[in-house]
This record gives sequence, structure tokens and C-alpha cells, in this order.
Amino acid sequence: MTAKQFGPLGAHTSASGGVHRALQEGKDIEATTVQLFTSNQKQWKGRPLTPEMVEAWQRALQETQLSQIMSHDSYLINLGGPRLDILAKSREAFREEVERCVQLNIPYLNFHPGAALDSDLQECLDRIVESLLLVKPFLEQGKTRLLLETTAGQGSTIGHRFEHLAYIIERVKDHLPIGVCIDTCHIFVAGYDVRTAADWEKTLAEFDRLIGLSFLYAFHLNDSLKGLGSRVDRHQPLGEGQIGWECFRFLMTDARTRHLPKYLETPGRVELWKKEIQQLKELAII
Ligand SMILES: [Zn+2]
Ligand SMILES: [Zn+2]
Repeated sequence: MTAKQFGPLGAHTSASGGVHRALQEGKDIEATTVQLFTSNQKQWKGRPLTPEMVEAWQRALQETQLSQIMSHDSYLINLGGPRLDILAKSREAFREEVERCVQLNIPYLNFHPGAALDSDLQECLDRIVESLLLVKPFLEQGKTRLLLETTAGQGSTIGHRFEHLAYIIERVKDHLPIGVCIDTCHIFVAGYDVRTAADWEKTLAEFDRLIGLSFLYAFHLNDSLKGLGSRVDRHQPLGEGQIGWECFRFLMTDARTRHLPKYLETPGRVELWKKEIQQLKELAII
């Protein structure tokens, strides 16, 4: 039995008590990466990071040796909404998200593309493109890459079809670093089957045809309470939902996906994530 090389594994850990706490919690669950919120995800105004916070972060990075850290943007941000006041607030908050990532030297900023609400889908896509181009000068200060997250397609949200992501990427890729993070629960309920290796072959072929596999950078690993195409986003522990283990075995072993960083967002806390990271490592042994 040989363990093939695989990419960093982690979970969305808690930054309460300071961003560096998320790294330490990662170490507690034997992770090699983490995802975190760099400010309170339910508030518009993020607290600016102090030099002490940045220093504690750098020290914790050294101590824990975690890499390929991912930031998740605030749930309040809608980069494609029709209301101009909310759009302006969203754009400002998103710029602050980018600035914090640059300050902390975080390589990936994962974000939900946006929601059309009562407006036209095409207009929403164009507002998202415009919103992203606005952060270009701030991205140029560091090495952070923006990652569009595939969404479940609840309500009027954008990003549940690969076509949406392809449209956005096509228009921003020459101006800023962009990519995609696939959430296994989200694409499954959005209608892309990922339960078996054969399903993944089809889904990856579709991704490659519309977006290009070179834009695939990361995964959120979640099982799903709801069924294929239900467009209802309810995460489940791995193997305890409608998706099942074969999906995760594929991602841990396939040459196109095993090297990419993977972040758990399963409902549970440190004990569950520690167990799931262990289980994922075992799946990589073939
Ligand atoms: Zn996710
Ligand atoms: Zn979700």
C-alpha cells in the first residue's frame, strides 16, 4: 500500500479570539491547512487588523506550519445585487476582505458570486464582473487569488451553473488572479452528480469544457442532506448524506484533484473534523 501525494487538508476553523486562533485550532485537528473568516462574517464593518494581530498570525503560521490558507468572505456581501446602496457597501466590504488577505499573506479568498434578487440574471453577472475589477489595484499589493465558490442555487444566487462562473472568469481573468472552489454539497444539489468516479468524470469534463480545469484551485468537502438537483444547501458529515464516501475517495486519489487543498465545512466541531481528516488520509492510500 502506498500513500499517494495529496494536498493540504483542513476545515473552517474558528477565529474567535483573533485570526491566529483559527491556525491553532487547525493544528488541534491535525490539519495542514484551514479556512477562516478574517472578520465577523455577520457585520458590515470589519475591524482593521492591528500590527499585533498580524504578528500573532505570522507566529502561529510558523508554529503550525499550515499552508494554502483560505479566507471565506462575509455572508452579507452581494457583489451582484440591484440595490445601489447595498452594492456600494458590498464592494467596500469586499475590498476590506482583500486588504486583510493581503495583510495576512493569505493565498485564497473564497467568495459567493452574488444574487440577482429581483433583477435580471445577466445584469447581475455584469455587476459581479464590475465589482471584481474594482479590487484589481488591491490584489496587486499581494499574492491573493480570488476563488468563486460553486453555489447550491438557492433563491436567485449565481454560481450554481458552470456557465455563470465561465462568464465571470472570461471577463476578469486577464486583469486579476481568479479561480474556482468546488463545494461538493453545493454542486450536487445544483444538479451535478458527484457520487461515483463515473459521475465525477462527467462533471469534471463539463467543468473543463466550460471553464477549464486550470481554473480549479480548491474544494469544500461536505456531504449533503438533500438530494441531487434539490438546490437546498444543508451540509452533512462525510458519508452521512446523499453523496457518500466514493465521492471523497475519488477527490483524494484522482490525479486532477488529489493535490488541491480541501476544506471541511461539515456540521460538527473539532472532534468531527479531526476524525474526517483521518478518514480522508486513509482514502488516499491505495
Ligand atoms: Zn462552501
Ligand atoms: Zn453550503
